[in-house]
Amino acid sequence: MKLHEYQSKQLFAKYGIPIPKGEVATTPEDARRIARDLNKRVVIKSQVLVGGRGKAGGVKLASTPDEAERIAGQILGMDIKGLTVRKVLVDEAADIRQEIYLGIVLDRVQRRAIMMASAAGGMDIEEVARTQPEKIIRVAIDPFLGLREYQTRQIAYSIGLPRDLIRDFNTIAQGLYRCFSDVDGSLVEINPLIVNGEGKLQAVDGKVLTDDNALFRHPDLAAMRDLDEEAPSETEARQRGLSYIKLDGEIGCMVNGAGLAMATMDMTKLFGGSPANFLDIGGGAQADKVAAALRIILADTNVKAVLFNIFGGITRCDEVARGIVAALEEVKTTVPMVARLVGTNEEEGRAILAAANMGTAKTLAEAAQKAVAAVKGEAGVVKLPPVEVKALPKARKVAKKPAPAKKPVAKKPAAKKPAPAKKSTRR
Ligand code: GDP
Ligand code: MN
Repeated sequence: MKLHEYQSKQLFAKYGIPIPKGEVATTPEDARRIARDLNKRVVIKSQVLVGGRGKAGGVKLASTPDEAERIAGQILGMDIKGLTVRKVLVDEAADIRQEIYLGIVLDRVQRRAIMMASAAGGMDIEEVARTQPEKIIRVAIDPFLGLREYQTRQIAYSIGLPRDLIRDFNTIAQGLYRCFSDVDGSLVEINPLIVNGEGKLQAVDGKVLTDDNALFRHPDLAAMRDLDEEAPSETEARQRGLSYIKLDGEIGCMVNGAGLAMATMDMTKLFGGSPANFLDIGGGAQADKVAAALRIILADTNVKAVLFNIFGGITRCDEVARGIVAALEEVKTTVPMVARLVGTNEEEGRAILAAANMGTAKTLAEAAQKAVAAVKGEAGVVKLPPVEVKALPKARKVAKKPAPAKKPVAKKPAAKKPAPAKKSTRR
């Protein structure tokens, strides 16, 4: 889950990180009042859950309450990368002398949190990472020892921070790490961390990503979720316990199991289609859950066909079929559908669907082709070379091989011999 800038900064402040004074406004009048109360030059900042707001015109300075109201009026309602701005943060404007990047991410390869910092902070850190990676320092944090002061000092030196800021930098860096571990973060970031006109460090922007799997133990964070920021279908999916990710294609997929969902998307692609979503209804899905999943898929207007791929185990195919029929009665759609149901009670399941005039298929390949054909016509289905017949005898030959496979093992010592031989030639 992503937190807004204002939420992230409020969180940072609890860990001793200095942030500018400010408040959130939802109307231009609010912005005016806040600017008047702050009685200073302010910065009006769109609160949307995407980066690059500055470049998109979503961060602007205002010198007077009048101007704050006018600019807030421009920014509220603005579209930034597909998201509508509904809130602005009105902060005391910072007098920026230097912009530093400071962040912590989880590095899965090193299996540690990594603190990253750069003297070239600000709006183009992604560009810096790509073109001048040497300008970003990375320090791995031992989960048992935590972030040590010598490490923050090392970071401070390598980004060329003045000596008199090193203590404050240490407080900020340590605070950021405590915040990262307390919230079960996958990323926390201050970009920019600035040196202001008084020569002090201050967090001017903030970003926090938390691990959804740990959210159950952070009800306070979960309550910060901004439902305005996600598609209604994603909200419903989450509330129903469905894993749903919207994609750009036109074939809606409903599958039980994440791996099966991936395979279904692959097959759809293989035959020339493109998946509109990833959707895992999970095991043991009941009719109402299936209905919700179908509603979610059909809410996407790009969807031109729906492909069901259900492998019945715990999930009974007849139960799923009833769910589909119930959903169709409720949703009323003309979108063509094809279902591949196999496993527990598959006959019953297919009979229920056939009675509801729905296309069925016995294999995933067949189902995928039918779904692609429904969108692009028969001619749009990619024809694959017939390989099935050849595959069998080949597979058998491979299976026989293990018996003489001992020979290569015996050869191994022989393979090593050339090494000493080389040595002797050198002598
Ligand atoms: P982002 O573009 O979404 O990362 O939004 P930021 O909050 O980082 O703002 C983008 C840029 O706007 C920063 O890198 C600063 O250069 C500038 N900016 C943000 N706040 C202020 C401020 O209070 N005063 C000044 N002068 N510039 C600011
Ligand atoms: Mn930023």
